[in-house]
Amino acid sequence: MFEKLAAKLQEAIDRLRGRGRIGEEDLKSALREIRRALIDADVNVEVIRSFVEGVRERALGQKVLESFTPAEVVLATVYEALKEALGGEPRQPLLKERNLWFLVGLQGSGKTTTAAKLALHYKAKGRRPLLVAADTQRPAAREQLRLLGEKVGVPVLEVMDGESPASIRRRVEERARAEVRDLVLVDTAGRLQVDEPLMAELARLKAAMSPDEVLLVLDAMTGQEALAVARAFEEKVGVTGLVLTKLDGDARGGAALSARQVVGKPIYFAGVSERPEGLEPFYPDRLAGRILG
Ligand code: GDP
Repeated sequence: MFEKLAAKLQEAIDRLRGRGRIGEEDLKSALREIRRALIDADVNVEVIRSFVEGVRERALGQKVLESFTPAEVVLATVYEALKEALGGEPRQPLLKERNLWFLVGLQGSGKTTTAAKLALHYKAKGRRPLLVAADTQRPAAREQLRLLGEKVGVPVLEVMDGESPASIRRRVEERARAEVRDLVLVDTAGRLQVDEPLMAELARLKAAMSPDEVLLVLDAMTGQEALAVARAFEEKVGVTGLVLTKLDGDARGGAALSARQVVGKPIYFAGVSERPEGLEPFYPDRLAGRILG
């Protein structure tokens, strides 16, 4: 991921590098190349506009100060703009003494895998997770989480077919108390597309359980489509943070670069492989640095 974008951005900046100083025209054509690179990477148009504007303003600000703009200044401003687009400072969900988090998202986004990954991640930090397979309609979804739970050594509570939100809440509370579990990760039902019954069911479960975090799992490979999904979940259910999966794939990067601004929520984690260990906290600065080589 990001290879093409990285190559194009570096090319645009390298072109400026041969000279000691660059003029406004050089900056303009570099910005044109940067814009094209972002369009090719499937970045949201609004995000591109503020990105390019931010680079221009910073670069020109430098120019007033120093009367010329070396390539390094452009590089630094592009780095800052990338870091900002990716979310600025790294953010992690707030951990309290006891925590209840929802994972929401479309079927296939990587939700169940991410639930198991989070369980493993926090178990390694000394937490005591409990996974909840909360799809009341698809036994296969519950079975998948049960197997993943076994793999990462974390207990799984399975809901029953058609179980009510109030009953799910009661059983989860009892189990968490009895086994002293301090991080309950609820793998909610996913569907192939955003639909009203799914959203209504999620909203009911959320009202019954009052989660501390609602983590929306988005498949980075689906590009701008992921953002439409994100807006729907944010509007109907409410979201507190994002997990972007499949960053190890060959997605062009548009979803990752647009999500923060379009959805307005921080990206907490990135999925980087299918394996339970394949989850990393999301670091905007490191990723921006990697893109610029
Ligand atoms: P769910 O339907 O949203 O619960 O999605 P799953 O957890 O079943 O994941 C769907 C597919 O995506 C599975 O084949 C996972 O192994 C795969 N997957 C999930 N996360 C990642 C990731 O970060 N990288 C890669 N390469 N594959 C992933």
